[in-house]
Amino acid sequence: MKGGLKKGIWIAAILVMCVGLAFFFFDGGRTLGFLGDGEMPDQVGYDGRGWWHRRGHGREEVGHEAVVDLSVFEDWVAETEVSEAQVEEYGVEKCFVADSISEKIRSRMMGKSYPENCSVSMDDLRYLKVLHYDMDGKIHLGEMVCNVKIADDLTEIFKALYDAKYPIGKMVLIDEYDADDEASMRDNNSSSFCFRPISRGSKISMHAYGMAVDINTLYNPYVSTRASGRIIKPSTATPYADREGESPYEIDKDDLCYKLFREHGFSWGGSWRSVKDYQHFEKRL
Ligand SMILES: [Zn+2]
Repeated sequence: MKGGLKKGIWIAAILVMCVGLAFFFFDGGRTLGFLGDGEMPDQVGYDGRGWWHRRGHGREEVGHEAVVDLSVFEDWVAETEVSEAQVEEYGVEKCFVADSISEKIRSRMMGKSYPENCSVSMDDLRYLKVLHYDMDGKIHLGEMVCNVKIADDLTEIFKALYDAKYPIGKMVLIDEYDADDEASMRDNNSSSFCFRPISRGSKISMHAYGMAVDINTLYNPYVSTRASGRIIKPSTATPYADREGESPYEIDKDDLCYKLFREHGFSWGGSWRSVKDYQHFEKRL
């Protein structure tokens, strides 16, 4: 055989192989019976709504399967961020509930918000699970311990605030700060129950019964004006003590939070004469 002919056969063979491979690649194996006409290979992917799975029968039948992760709601670790799709899938009504104090929650509270000498029974307290939007418009799991007498009020109020996308910085138990109110307020945390023994001459706080709630505490400080000067709590909230619109999170009488608490029979610390406690709502029964 002449060299030129041999070379030609080799080139032809390689060409046939290339065409075959390209055909198989673009055809997806249909000719060889791997897939029927109009079918696509299985594909999976992830988008903002969760995992999707595309199987056979072309792209027009793309659908989202319910593969949204719902375990976060069972674990309920406060401040976990969740998506609207997760909330929708789980059920928003299940995200605004008042439970009795479980052993797990009790152990977080003991020796902190619930000291040895606490005169309030655990049976009179409730653990609230609620959702809240933060200042960036993200949804978080929130938690709060309060008195059973205001538990329904609070779940309704927080549901209405959630529906209105009212921004709340943080909602974790004050026990996460070892029941240190100053630390919790500096972190703009919102909370209710915290039992403190009464020091001589001071009134017992409604927080000791879980009948008071503090909201967005850094931006809505406690301000006491005395001859010796002002006392501002938390001490880092000086820029927000004058109530001249320094922050968009100021609670005033036009504020939705104020209106909802008033509708549910709470009084507001911002209306007090002696001191101003802009973060504070309480209910006396
Ligand atoms: Zn308060």
